[in-house]
Amino acid sequence: MTETTDVIVIGGGVQGASLAFHLAGRSLQPLVLERGALAGGATGRSSGLVRMHYDLEPEARLAWASFPYFRQWPERVGGECGFTRTGFLQLYPRESGARLRGNVEMQQGMGIPTLLVTADDVRRLAPQFDIGDFDVAAYEPESGYADPSGTTAAFMAAARDRGARLVQGCSVTAIRVDGGRVSGVETNRGGFSAPVVVDAAGAWARDVAGLVGVDVPLTVWRHDTAYVRRPSVLAAGHPTVIDDGNAMYFRPEGRDLTLIGLEDDAATGGSPDDDLRPAGGFVERVVERICRRIPAMIDADLQSTQRGQDGMTPDQRPILGPAGPDGFYLQCGFSGTGFKTAPAIGACMAELIVDGRASTVDISPFGLERFGAGRLLAGAHEDRPIWR
Ligand SMILES: Cc1cc2nc3c(=O)[nH]c(=O)nc-3n(C[C@H](O)[C@H](O)[C@H](O)COP(=O)(O)OP(=O)(O)OC[C@H]3O[C@@H](n4cnc5c(N)ncnc54)[C@H](O)[C@@H]3O)c2cc1C
Repeated sequence: MTETTDVIVIGGGVQGASLAFHLAGRSLQPLVLERGALAGGATGRSSGLVRMHYDLEPEARLAWASFPYFRQWPERVGGECGFTRTGFLQLYPRESGARLRGNVEMQQGMGIPTLLVTADDVRRLAPQFDIGDFDVAAYEPESGYADPSGTTAAFMAAARDRGARLVQGCSVTAIRVDGGRVSGVETNRGGFSAPVVVDAAGAWARDVAGLVGVDVPLTVWRHDTAYVRRPSVLAAGHPTVIDDGNAMYFRPEGRDLTLIGLEDDAATGGSPDDDLRPAGGFVERVVERICRRIPAMIDADLQSTQRGQDGMTPDQRPILGPAGPDGFYLQCGFSGTGFKTAPAIGACMAELIVDGRASTVDISPFGLERFGAGRLLAGAHEDRPIWR
């Protein structure tokens, strides 16, 4: 007999788990189908930065609406998300000072705790940093990072306590449509019926949407990261940093490691099932970049490298909302930046599904139709193509 449920969520990453948590909070019984293991996709390899510095206002709003979850996780969700407050610095090269100021002004306008600090202030916060290429930086004293796998497990555990179900090792192979409306899915473990199906399949979301004839402009984006053990001179740690001029970000991990990612090293295209080994020469590039910002890192020891992947859209912003047959929704295209916004996006998508409209944040700018209409999203103060 086919099992019947309220909402089928395809994909057990942080996005699917957040949606399940919020749907279950609205007294629905969502069913999450995950072809591998919970958080086995982008989420399990995510760097977990939690910050609000965006140049597109709706994205900053999503990050800001998510932030209280990270800070008050045990009360709001239960369990732990591993949020660690380190402070966050956004560095831009000197010539992008206007962009930095514009972003900070926009974020302050919505109440985000962020301020402009001078290069000397940065030196006081991070005495080992080279500060020669900027005069001002944006500083978010409350921000930091969290544990993406732990966050997802906690969302899913809380969702299950409220009536959600998770089936792992369950690959969706077809989506049933009757009379222009979705009615369920077929999987390697049998059929499941529901009037609502949500595509939260990360880098595989294009294939899943293709099952109902919806063409989603997603490219597979691959991103390499490295963990190094800091030398003793950096034992006190450092803030979490996005260093635009060096196309790099880094953050502490626990007491003595630093996680480093290079933004311009990303490879795009191919299949989401391709090999996930970091690119040749990645380690050399990491060493060269991190030593530009923190010369003392020359004495760091490499611990490990890994590659992750996500679905990238043409404007590098997510796709959220209905598409194709009635009852089919997209929650995908996170373009390497969908961890920190997952709590609010899950809330918004649950509102959209239950109430017909998102009230936590207006997510209407993120609809699929923007691509066909040539309305690609761009930040108010973008002075050149972004990387994120
Ligand atoms: C290396 C790296 C670093 C990142 N760093 C940050 C960061 O610092 N901050 C930030 O905010 N974001 C970051 N991101 C982005 C963020 O991690 C992702 O946007 C987010 O995890 C996406 O979550 P998801 O649930 O949409 O996708 P995923 O976690 O990929 O989950 C999708 C799931 O769908 C499943 N699936 C696919 N097809 C099917 C099917 N047919 N049937 C059933 N299940 C299926 C997959 O197995 C997968 O588990 C990073 C991403 C990467 C790769």
